[in-house]
Amino acid sequence: MDNKNEILYTYKNNVYLNITNACPCKCEFCIRSTTDTVGESGSLWLDHSPDFAEVKAAIDSFDFTGFDEAIFCGYGEPTCAFDVLIETAKYLRGKGIKTRLNTNGLGDLINKRSVAKEICDNIDSVSISLNASDKVKYNDIVHPSFGIISFDAMLGFAKECRKYTENVAFTVVDVIGEEEIEKCRKIAEDCGVNFRVRVYSAD
Ligand code: SF4
Repeated sequence: MDNKNEILYTYKNNVYLNITNACPCKCEFCIRSTTDTVGESGSLWLDHSPDFAEVKAAIDSFDFTGFDEAIFCGYGEPTCAFDVLIETAKYLRGKGIKTRLNTNGLGDLINKRSVAKEICDNIDSVSISLNASDKVKYNDIVHPSFGIISFDAMLGFAKECRKYTENVAFTVVDVIGEEEIEKCRKIAEDCGVNFRVRVYSAD
């Protein structure tokens, strides 16, 4: 498929919402650098940032039978489109569909304010890419535009989310190695959040 503007797509029995291509990072593991699609999706490069009406139209035209959760993910950082993210989450909740946010955890820096409460009030679970066990390694992998303050901001966001929900997790990809994974597991424990190791896939 080569259609652009794929706002909603499915992959491995999950529904994903691709609401923005904006992101302040250039992660080494980002699939954006290796492919334009995920599974059967069309191109996930959007030619403009969709407003809520466009996201709602994509949701309304999709048959959610057999799907009970939608995941904000895609080719960009969802908190870069914060108002659309929250409005869409509210709309999905009204339809009885659970939501999950996959995020780089830099929403506070992106929006220049604390966003954890609003996210946790409206989204059922939050999955944060931890990526590394310290700020130097983190920056070497994630290359955030905010620089060295990013790692601590991301940890702070996770701890703030944990105040409002138990459904918050750090994720790492398995390619960072066993020793680094264990250090990351300890950080998750210290922050009181869940921990998940993802199998890295470049496509
Ligand atoms: S934060 Fe996500 S979208 Fe942004 S570069 Fe990293 S993996 Fe890609």
